[in-house]
Amino acid sequence: MMKVFIIGGGASGLVAAITAKRSGADVTILERNDKLGRKLLLTGNGRCNYYNSYQDLSCYHSSSSELIPNFINRNNLDMVLSFFDKLGLYPTIKDGYYYPVTNQANSVLAVLLNEIEHLNINVVYNCYVTNIKKNKDTFVIYTEDNKYIADKVIIATGSKSYSKTGSDGFGYSVAKDFKHTIIPVLPSLTFLKGNENYYKDWNGIRSNASVSLFENDQKIKEEVGEIQLTSEGISGICVYNLSGIIAKALNNNSNVHVRINFVPFYEACSIKDFVDLLDNRNKQLKGRNVSQLFDGLLNYKLINLLLKLCKIDNKIHWEDLSNEQKCNLADRIINFKFIPTGVGDYDKAQVCSGGVALSEINLNTMESLLMPGLFFTGEVIDLDGDCGGYNLTIAWISGLMAGGHVND
Ligand SMILES: Cc1cc2nc3c(=O)[nH]c(=O)nc-3n(C[C@H](O)[C@H](O)[C@H](O)COP(=O)(O)OP(=O)(O)OC[C@H]3O[C@@H](n4cnc5c(N)ncnc54)[C@H](O)[C@@H]3O)c2cc1C
Repeated sequence: MMKVFIIGGGASGLVAAITAKRSGADVTILERNDKLGRKLLLTGNGRCNYYNSYQDLSCYHSSSSELIPNFINRNNLDMVLSFFDKLGLYPTIKDGYYYPVTNQANSVLAVLLNEIEHLNINVVYNCYVTNIKKNKDTFVIYTEDNKYIADKVIIATGSKSYSKTGSDGFGYSVAKDFKHTIIPVLPSLTFLKGNENYYKDWNGIRSNASVSLFENDQKIKEEVGEIQLTSEGISGICVYNLSGIIAKALNNNSNVHVRINFVPFYEACSIKDFVDLLDNRNKQLKGRNVSQLFDGLLNYKLINLLLKLCKIDNKIHWEDLSNEQKCNLADRIINFKFIPTGVGDYDKAQVCSGGVALSEINLNTMESLLMPGLFFTGEVIDLDGDCGGYNLTIAWISGLMAGGHVND
């Protein structure tokens, strides 16, 4: 019987183990923690957003983007849904976002662990793999105090984000040992840091916003959602979805900046249009000072900060502002410039971009094209997704692929 060892019992490793065992292999998971799936429990704020019905290739990112359709396609996505359906996971779907109906990430982990137990899959806990070597037809897996002989090995060790959950980047070094190319690994799905004194004044503000990313003054991406202004910079899902590109741009010393529109519901509004709109609002809401004029439209703390940045006294009335002052304020509201100086570090990034080059992996099986018998699943590969269940989708599909072909 084919001896398959899976290094890492996280999202992709668990799915790979189940699928490999079902295909008839003798499967062992080596997990450094005393529990399986620690990161999975943190996902979706403890609710686990495990899939999304909106699927578009633009939700996924890789330096080999031309290869993504080989992996993200209807057939593979349907396999994911059918896999969880058969494990008894009932979803609740909100705007396309799939969560377990219990709203507990633990339910996703539980259905996986129940199947691991049902299939009698061997799990070795507290087992940190330190090295993997090829010896003729087998692999020798070295741990801190043991060694194992395997016919096939699946590297499911994750990236190096949230290393306290166990993923410390080990998979990249194994891949390198087997001559794989590692696309530079950077934090993604995290907040943006800036460098302004006034962040202490906006800390805690939340607002609707559209957030646009400019690279060399060219707009390259726009996200809409709730933005959080923090003592370090800006955060929120709409910001997270830009952070991967910004991390890469900063790493390449490219010139990037972000523009925030705090009133995204006024569509494609120019500064002149917005000033006209405020002129009308001022006619309607007679006698208000300029701060009161924005009550019901903008967060109170935010408008007062923007007024301060424009050096406008908040007691003054709109009609007493010069046209230049009106345009200046309008510009800050619909076109606020934020210059990122960094992104949240690995321990504050939900995922990492980069990893094992896709061109060196058979994306139908997840087997290395350089080392037969060695497979890669999950975040260790050079493929990551936006917020919204896309990263777990990558973990599920790759786990299903590797587990399903490891016994070929
Ligand atoms: C806070 C947070 C929230 C998230 N929310 C979502 C969400 O809602 N939806 C979504 O799609 N994605 C989400 N993600 C991302 C998602 O969790 C990951 O993309 C996914 O878990 C990656 O799966 P994986 O199998 O590659 O790695 P992991 O799940 O990280 O598993 C890797 C496993 O390998 C083990 N391991 C590592 N090295 C070794 C070694 N040398 N020896 C033995 N064992 C080892 C680790 O202990 C770990 O158990 C979130 C991530 C975070 C941090």
